[in-house]
Amino acid sequence: MLTVDEALARLLEGLRETDSERVQLADALGRVPATPDLVAALDVPPFANSAMDGFALRFADGDAPRQVVGESRAGGPPAPSVEAGTAVRIMTGAPVPDGADTIVPIEDASERDGVVNVAAAPSLGMHVRAAGLDVCRGDAVPLPRVPLTPSTIGLLAAMGHADLDVRRRPHVAILSTGDELRDVGASLGYGQIYDANAPALAAAVSEAGGLPRILERAPDEPDAIEAALRSAVESADLLIASGGVSVGEHDHVRGVIEGLGSLDFWRIAVQPGKPLAFGRIGEVPVVGLPGNPVSALVTFELFVRPMLRAMLCLSGDGRIRVTARISEAIGKDPDRRAYLRVRVDCAAEGYRATSAGGQGSVQLLPLASANALLVVPEGVPATEPGAAYEAILLGGIA
Ligand code: AMP
Ligand code: MG
Repeated sequence: MLTVDEALARLLEGLRETDSERVQLADALGRVPATPDLVAALDVPPFANSAMDGFALRFADGDAPRQVVGESRAGGPPAPSVEAGTAVRIMTGAPVPDGADTIVPIEDASERDGVVNVAAAPSLGMHVRAAGLDVCRGDAVPLPRVPLTPSTIGLLAAMGHADLDVRRRPHVAILSTGDELRDVGASLGYGQIYDANAPALAAAVSEAGGLPRILERAPDEPDAIEAALRSAVESADLLIASGGVSVGEHDHVRGVIEGLGSLDFWRIAVQPGKPLAFGRIGEVPVVGLPGNPVSALVTFELFVRPMLRAMLCLSGDGRIRVTARISEAIGKDPDRRAYLRVRVDCAAEGYRATSAGGQGSVQLLPLASANALLVVPEGVPATEPGAAYEAILLGGIA
């Protein structure tokens, strides 16, 4: 059995990064920039403008009254230039007229009969947003190597970029296997359950930046599994199967991977999720996840998510880790590293973890209400009350 770290290293070996494609800004959220930076074609803001509603005037005139000679409004025509002893009424975002170097906010000025008085002598350059304050024309603006956020999309728009090059999302084919499985919505016969893994894994693929495609489910028959994988490999960057990967009489996924390509390993010392088959069909990596839904999702998180991110040129799993103290003993297999489903919150004394419920590998409810996986190392049979462990945050903190 491989350790978690050995398995992850093997899974990440030789993965190919996807090529790039151009997307419109409206479709760019969460996509990974394919260039390290973008050169600004213009200053942002493009011209000096006012940060306040007020009066544009010359600092050198001190606190003397000024003749108001016109108005500059955002998007309006050019205002007259400001000569000594004059001012222009100005709105937020409007261009600072020629000759003016300072803005006095409306609250600090009084206008009467076309003359404005300022309450106190302004300071030079006050409330003027210089051209290029945010970005200077010709600057290389770094694009962080993370999925694009609303703020970066806003910045690109302000810079005049309507589209950009991003990494193509890896195509991930998802195959559920098992005679007992039915589609959600179908009626259940004797011994049947709904296929929870296909929708859950498709969502996890999307969340990790991939493009999921759910294949027609395969029964527990080698020929059917083989046909499904053989055709999916034509158009996928990664194949994920779930179920049928263990040592039962009706577990055929491993054998099929071996038959069609090569099997690298099939067991990891991880809980949940010991049976996990990894191999290649041609160039395409294939991961056979365990069938139990919690095992499938947790092993996806630990192993497949980093694979997809590596294909997108992102490193690690992109999760935040904290150290959290737990007050209860939760049992585990001493031989495997456990990823316990917990809720982490932030108390005055630091982060605290509490069990999210039963730790069985079919219990989706505790996983659904957990916001973290608590990492408990190999060699111990349970968490030690009062001890602190690494927690991988899966979502927000309550
Ligand atoms: P297996 O790995 O095929 O032995 O499956 C282990 C357990 O996971 C069994 O209880 C299966 O019924 C269950 N299981 C397998 N695939 C799925 C699935 N797609 N959705 C829900 N449960 C599943
Ligand atoms: Mg099965």
